[in-house]
Amino acid sequence: MSLLVVGSIALDSVATPFGGTADAPGGSAVFFAAAGAILHPVQVVGVVGSDYPLGALKALEARGVDLSGVEQAAGESFRWKAKYSYDLQSRETLETRLGVFADFRPKLPPRFKDARYVFLGNIDPELQLGVLDQVTQPALVACDTMNYWIHSKKDLLLELLRHIDILMVNDSEARELSGDWNIYRAARWVLGHGPKMTVVKQGEHGALLVSADSTFKVPAYPLQEVFDPTGAGDAFAGGFMAYVASTQDLSPANLRRAMVYGAAMGSFAVEKFGIQGFDGVTPADVRARVRAFKDLVHFELDEDRRR
Ligand code: AMP
Repeated sequence: MSLLVVGSIALDSVATPFGGTADAPGGSAVFFAAAGAILHPVQVVGVVGSDYPLGALKALEARGVDLSGVEQAAGESFRWKAKYSYDLQSRETLETRLGVFADFRPKLPPRFKDARYVFLGNIDPELQLGVLDQVTQPALVACDTMNYWIHSKKDLLLELLRHIDILMVNDSEARELSGDWNIYRAARWVLGHGPKMTVVKQGEHGALLVSADSTFKVPAYPLQEVFDPTGAGDAFAGGFMAYVASTQDLSPANLRRAMVYGAAMGSFAVEKFGIQGFDGVTPADVRARVRAFKDLVHFELDEDRRR
């Protein structure tokens, strides 16, 4: 059951209080694939420029990432520069250079078209729609976006919402998109515009899964060292979607479990700079962290104790 992602393939330069990266491989599709492939093979659609260090992508290929939908075009790769605050709670985007993404028109290799699980990673909504048009029979489509696109392409984003099952955004994006500061109302605003579910990623406060009849919360894994929050949201999506693809189960109980796999992957992402947090991580490591989540939130009601 194939899992497809379209998204940015970037060179990231980030500064945190603990250090930084310069032109490190990143982007929504790369974080998604690096995390997701630990649990399930991932097909990637995207573009890199002539300056991209392809060795970094080849390393992903060795871990089960299919790069045959990645085009190399003449020109500069997508570049993103950001700086984090002292407590890593907020970040400022210093620069976004689209480079080859400005003229990219995704064309899916024929064997990607029957993907059952599709993640439209953060990228121009026009490209997200372009990919969705080529997928014949998806069982589940989830989508992310960013303030950058909410400001510049809101109409297309609203069009996209009508065609997806889950919108996965962070809290500030949910607020910005809906125009409502209350996160639960913002999630419901999204449900009113097409998707059956909203996932709101809340950084160190975990994530919410909201549907018409239920709300589920997963905390963030209690890490004592965090180095670089970049890509945690995409890694979350990679864990969530890869777990669903590997289990082929869209029941509410399984989607709750998928939230925990997402949170586990997010925690690996932030422990190191760039995608290095996934180096050497095995499915057993992920399962161990998922089990730790169960302990973290388990409690008994008074009446359970009396029984
Ligand atoms: P996250 O920390 O999960 O929000 O994702 C950060 C990643 O998103 C970085 O690796 C960036 O390269 C990528 N990114 C930042 N801005 C954009 C944008 N406007 N479009 C697509 N990808 C972006």
